[in-house]
Amino acid sequence: MNDMEPYSMYTDMGIEKRVVDYCQQMEQSLQERFQKIDRRAEYNQLKVLHAMQKNKLSEAHLYPSTGYGYNDIGRDTLEQIYADVFHTEDALVRPHITCGTHALHIALAGNLRPGDEILSPVGKPYDTLDEVIGIRSSAGSLAEYGVTYRQVDLLPDGSFDWEGIRNAIHEKTRLVEIQRSKGYATRPTLSVAQIGELVAFIKSIRSDIICMVDNCYGEFVEELEPTDVGADMAVGSLIKNPGGGLAPIGGYIVGTKECVARAAYRLTAPGLGKELGAGLGVTASFIQGLFLAPTVTAAALKGAILAANLYESLGYRTIPNAVEERYDIIQAIEFGTPELLIAFCEGIQAAAPVDSYVTPTPWAMPGYDSDVIMAAGAFVSGASIELSADGPVKPPYAVYFQGGLTYPHAKFGIMKTLQCMVDKGVQL
Ligand SMILES: *Cc1c(COP(=O)(O)O)cnc(C)c1O
Repeated sequence: MNDMEPYSMYTDMGIEKRVVDYCQQMEQSLQERFQKIDRRAEYNQLKVLHAMQKNKLSEAHLYPSTGYGYNDIGRDTLEQIYADVFHTEDALVRPHITCGTHALHIALAGNLRPGDEILSPVGKPYDTLDEVIGIRSSAGSLAEYGVTYRQVDLLPDGSFDWEGIRNAIHEKTRLVEIQRSKGYATRPTLSVAQIGELVAFIKSIRSDIICMVDNCYGEFVEELEPTDVGADMAVGSLIKNPGGGLAPIGGYIVGTKECVARAAYRLTAPGLGKELGAGLGVTASFIQGLFLAPTVTAAALKGAILAANLYESLGYRTIPNAVEERYDIIQAIEFGTPELLIAFCEGIQAAAPVDSYVTPTPWAMPGYDSDVIMAAGAFVSGASIELSADGPVKPPYAVYFQGGLTYPHAKFGIMKTLQCMVDKGVQL
């Protein structure tokens, strides 16, 4: 039977029949949910394709440029495509942006001046921004340049503290930083609709405040992006969702002409801005990666949903849970014991296309107060749009996992984690 073809591959690759069956049955029960995700991917695929056609993307745009990169038409077309996908006036999409944190830094530093204040109305931002902003003192932080920071936490139920936010806004408030994904915090991820409400509220108090969204892990999860609901700027990493697994490096900033220009003056130099910056042959991967990003994001989402359903059925706490609506691709699972956290990461590693034979072990990573275990066997080093998992080895022994360039790979990776659990004595 043709239908059985993958079945024997699973058993050949070290998964017991009962584990395969358990996963397949769960998958069957999720078909309706998966169809919804596929329809969203279909919409986003057309959105991306439309932007490429509208800008008359042509073969010449895929060629490398070198040196100063004046008149790099491939780069300029790529940026116009991003601007159209995100419905913004302009975009900065470059291999010279090292990572998501770097993109966030130039967006902030480019748009803030001494005496200005940043407000985060959604609690503490992603860890790496501590030193960018100067929440933890650091050489070169915005605090050293006289930019101050204020924060309003979400209420205990995860909703916005409207009154607290209103009271925190004053004449120095210049920019509001809204992080869409929960990252490694325990708060819920924000939907685009919630971000829209928050932006409208802030603009109703002072319309000249820049509303910037850290869009990491959120791109193409919904039909709308934060820039569709009033955000002045959205920022992210190309080794997450929008790079589609093909971008080997990079970050993006989309937004108003003014916001993007000021960020570009910070990336290159005052007076130079977007005019310089050779593509070095990476532009083609950015464009093709963006083309794949909607379906790659959908694959990662389906994997996350399959994992949440499997592990919740086995009695573990999953965040988001099995049935919740999703606004980013991250899945957390609390195992309660170090053995199972480590077993999960071993499964992800063993399922990787690269370095599948190595065993991940917990280590004392700089900046963490406990050992951390990480599993990744990625084509692009550190790319978390590829199937990957990590977690601090301390209670509640939660693993954070994300990615999967194709759904069959994400599914296999999750099966492999379950096999590792079963080998440790977990009962199906
Ligand atoms: C990944 C991430 C960042 C930083 O990205 P890096 O590429 O690791 O520097 C910032 N914010 C959020 C929410 C993220 O998920």
